[in-house]
Amino acid sequence: MNDIRTTMRDRKRIALVAHDHRKETLLEWVEFNSGSLSRHLLYATGTTGRLIEERTGLPVQRLESGPLGGDQQIGAMIAEGKLDFLFFFWDPLMTQPHDPDVKALLRLAVVWNIPVAMNRSSADFMISSHLMRDEYDRLVPDYHSYRQRKIESDS
Ligand code: PGA
Repeated sequence: MNDIRTTMRDRKRIALVAHDHRKETLLEWVEFNSGSLSRHLLYATGTTGRLIEERTGLPVQRLESGPLGGDQQIGAMIAEGKLDFLFFFWDPLMTQPHDPDVKALLRLAVVWNIPVAMNRSSADFMISSHLMRDEYDRLVPDYHSYRQRKIESDS
C-alpha cells in the first residue's frame, strides 16, 4: 500500500482524554506543559476538558463525556482528518463501561497514523520533540484500493 503525505501544521490539533483514576496525572502534566500546549488547539472529552479549563484556564473544545460517546467523537475526528495528536491516559487497572469505545479509538489512531501518548513519560517525550513546534508530514496509508476492493458474492 502506498502512503499519502498529510501535513500537520505547526499548530497541532490535540485531543486529551483521561479516565477518572488517571485524570490527576493528566491535569498535572497539562499544568506543567501549559506554555507549550497554549500554542496548539486543544480538544477533550467532556469531564477531562472541564477539569483542564478549571485547572489551567487553557481553552478547550469540549466533546461529550467519554462513556457517553466522547471517545467515539474523537475517533470520528481522527478518521475525518480533524485531529493530529492524541494524549490518552487510560486506566490499566480498571474495566470501563465504554471499553469497546476505548479500543476503537486506539485502533483508529493506528489506522490513521496519529501519534498517541498513553502515559506521562511518553507524553513528556512527545511534547518536548521539535516536531511539535514544526510542520510535519504524516504518512497515511492510501486506502483507495481497500475502498475499491472486490467483494465476492455469497452465493
Ligand atoms: P471524560 O471521559 O473526560 O468525560 O471523563 C474520559 C473517558 O473515559 O473516555
